[in-house]
Amino acid sequence: MEEKADLRAIEYGELESIVTGLLEKKFRASQIYGWIHGKQAESLDAMTNVPGGLKEALSKDYEIFTVKKDRVQESALDGTRKYLFELHDGNLIESVFMRYEHGDSVCVSTQVGCRMGCKFCASTIDGLVRNLTAGEMLGQIYGIMKDTGSRISNVVMMGSGEPLDNYDESLKFIRMLTDERGLNISQRNVTLSTCGIVPRIRELADEELTITLAISLHACSDEKRRELMPVANKYSLDEIIGACRYYFDRTGRRLTFEYSLVNGVNDNDDDARGLAMLLRGLNCHVNLIPVNPVRERNYAQSTKQAVLAFKNKLEKNHINVTIRREMGRDIDGACGQLRRRVISAEGRILRKDTKDA
Ligand code: SAH
Repeated sequence: MEEKADLRAIEYGELESIVTGLLEKKFRASQIYGWIHGKQAESLDAMTNVPGGLKEALSKDYEIFTVKKDRVQESALDGTRKYLFELHDGNLIESVFMRYEHGDSVCVSTQVGCRMGCKFCASTIDGLVRNLTAGEMLGQIYGIMKDTGSRISNVVMMGSGEPLDNYDESLKFIRMLTDERGLNISQRNVTLSTCGIVPRIRELADEELTITLAISLHACSDEKRRELMPVANKYSLDEIIGACRYYFDRTGRRLTFEYSLVNGVNDNDDDARGLAMLLRGLNCHVNLIPVNPVRERNYAQSTKQAVLAFKNKLEKNHINVTIRREMGRDIDGACGQLRRRVISAEGRILRKDTKDA
């Protein structure tokens, strides 16, 4: 049987062509899109004002793929909720819901697994299984909205996966998420985080978006960075900073740099000084994240004093810096940990889609 396509993953313009191709009026596309992305409908059946004939015609080739809540862990410390979702093909992905003073936020995954191989990260241990579609990224947010009743105002693409390794779907997701016919989230409230795929950063800069770009730096020399992140063998820090300058020139958006502090690896005074030199003159903000220890990995969190000293050193060098509040420390906080634990404890399979893997 030919597999149907996911209606949730279809952009407005394409939906309009599908609907007019079925000899229906254009406004039906607007109705259907509104059901899926405005009201978060989960089936064609739910669309009460769409004619039965059209629903039937669509249902021959399309359906709305499920992004089904498998389980949720809520942090007793800060109310952060970590979701495990099951996709229509049985794959499991994680998403996180966080409440902040400035609004509720969702952290979405962009791939099942990841092939970037960062040494401290749980998401990449078994490599990449497959890319997520824009519909599956939206589905994570819609599922969380349904479960919490929250109106989401911020979205960060910082879950499992490398968004710039799944460029087209990530971009489509951003366009659909910020479309006024859907959730209409401001692009300024969307952050895309990357390990630093330089040509893609430049391409993203040319898209004329106003999203925030976050770069996972984690080291201030190529040598040290290569120990933590294999992608550093491909792109140097100079090339990354060059691409960041280009991003700022094109978009006017301040950059964010993420720096996970690992005890004895990248957290001494010289590291802080090196980082300040690297970022000098760049309109940016540094987010320090005490590394979240992952069972399979041998990295420990920097001490409180080391984190504070690192922060002070950056501030003395006029770098904007904050220490990321550790959300959900008690609930498998680090990317990919919950999924791994469930897969190994319950013998759930790690499905591979041979097409994409
Ligand atoms: N692939 C993208 C986004 C996913 S991860 C990227 O590399 O930016 C989001 C952030 O969490 C990245 O900065 C990543 O390096 C960091 N991260 C992953 N595992 C971590 C851990 N165990 N402790 C602290 N930070 C971690």
